Amino acid sequence: MKLAIDIEGALPRVGDHEHLGGAADAVLEDGYDLTFSPGEGIQWELDLHRISGGIEITGRVTGVVALQCYRCLEPFDFPVDIRMREHALMAAETVGPADDYAGEYMVEGGVLDLEPLFRDNIALAFPLKRVCDEACRGICPRCGANLNIENCTCGPEAVDARLKPLEELKRRLENGGEAPA
Ligand SMILES: [Zn+2]
Ligand SMILES: [Zn+2]
Repeated sequence: MKLAIDIEGALPRVGDHEHLGGAADAVLEDGYDLTFSPGEGIQWELDLHRISGGIEITGRVTGVVALQCYRCLEPFDFPVDIRMREHALMAAETVGPADDYAGEYMVEGGVLDLEPLFRDNIALAFPLKRVCDEACRGICPRCGANLNIENCTCGPEAVDARLKPLEELKRRLENGGEAPA
């Protein structure tokens, strides 16, 4: 899903202003990759102002983002209410090497992609402990049963080799959702 805004069409001149709203589903895949798809999970109301050399973006993003519980690995809704205040540079109006603008949001080819702005702002709101519930009992490392739903009869024995990948994922999520090196 492309969250692109045609800046040259909507705000052709310095001083132009545009209000825009929208919605999408936001899902944190695999512990670290925030993806957007058509839906109503989050809604945004933004004000865009064309200034000299760039665009000022202010507004609010509210709704729920689907996170993955690091104990039971099930998705759960995490509510967000984010005030955004960002700016993006008009790539065509920058001077000097592109490296000088690393880390800046850019309007490239007259188009502003909201995805990286949303991704960064939403990621800052995520809790350190991503659990569906403080009382979540997680999954059994031996048989993979979701202990919130069912009880298993496994004792505290060695982890089944077939479930190693699941353990790996769980460990990764517990380490703050870092991508594998
Ligand atoms: Zn859980
Ligand atoms: Zn078990």
